[in-house]
Amino acid sequence: MNLMKNQDTLVEEYSGAFARGAFNGVWGRAGHPEQRKFQRGADMMRKSTPGYKYELHLHTGETSTCGRIKGAEVAGLYKAAGYDGIVVTDHYHRGYFEKNFYSRQAKQATWSEKIDKYLSGYKGALEAGKRLGLTVLLGMEIRFDGSSNDYLVYGVDEAFLRENPELYSLGLSNFRRCLQEKLGDGQFLIYQAHPFRPGAIPANPADLDGVEVYNGNPRHNSRNHLALHFAQKNRLKQISGSDFHRRVDLARGGMIFPEKVTTNRQLLQLLQEQQQLELIRTAGAPLSFLRLLTGIADRFK
Ligand SMILES: [Zn+2]
Ligand SMILES: [Zn+2]
Repeated sequence: MNLMKNQDTLVEEYSGAFARGAFNGVWGRAGHPEQRKFQRGADMMRKSTPGYKYELHLHTGETSTCGRIKGAEVAGLYKAAGYDGIVVTDHYHRGYFEKNFYSRQAKQATWSEKIDKYLSGYKGALEAGKRLGLTVLLGMEIRFDGSSNDYLVYGVDEAFLRENPELYSLGLSNFRRCLQEKLGDGQFLIYQAHPFRPGAIPANPADLDGVEVYNGNPRHNSRNHLALHFAQKNRLKQISGSDFHRRVDLARGGMIFPEKVTTNRQLLQLLQEQQQLELIRTAGAPLSFLRLLTGIADRFK
């Protein structure tokens, strides 16, 4: 992969030199056939640079109250946008399990029934993904009692969620200890999502593996530059995500991996080797009245 990266840099340099006319003295202004051949090769090489796109921050309409699009449709949208996979990270917090979907049934529902409901968006996406040839993995975006910070978690599976109820009551440090104990070393990763969005507070770096340094959601002011600085200062891993809730959020962030990922284990392995990864960033956010409003509202929260 490093070799491919270097080749790519080389291609950029040579193409740039051609564009600047650096070789005109050698081949003349019209361009030598060899020059044209090299240019074609350079274009092909750039296209063939390996890279697989994955969305790491995404919500479904079935599970997240703020999600507008159902899992199956989300999978179709990401496939059409050229992604190879998505990690479904629906909101996991006390309000969801006790109120949002269970205003009446909440008191009678067993934890397993609540998890069935929680997983319904992921399952919908998974089914559609199988048909479409899109990898769909399970993750979560957890918020702990008494805090408005959000954490993206990778490596959890259905069994873990069923066997360990009400993780939101643990707080970040105890949650980390719980994962360590139940899943083991290197079997999970915790990234703080948009730590500089108004209302959020950067967590103790000792409790984190990484930081979402690019959040592509166009309706929030995530102050990504501060998140990047925080990650660099504390030597934390970096990811990018779209924070998909609606159509306009599609493919605004994510990661480019050097190889295909089809399991959580592979995902964790690649995320551990940060240096091989590329972050997807989209320039500028679409003009959004909602962003303006939430931006103002965030300031008074
Ligand atoms: Zn949301
Ligand atoms: Zn989110």
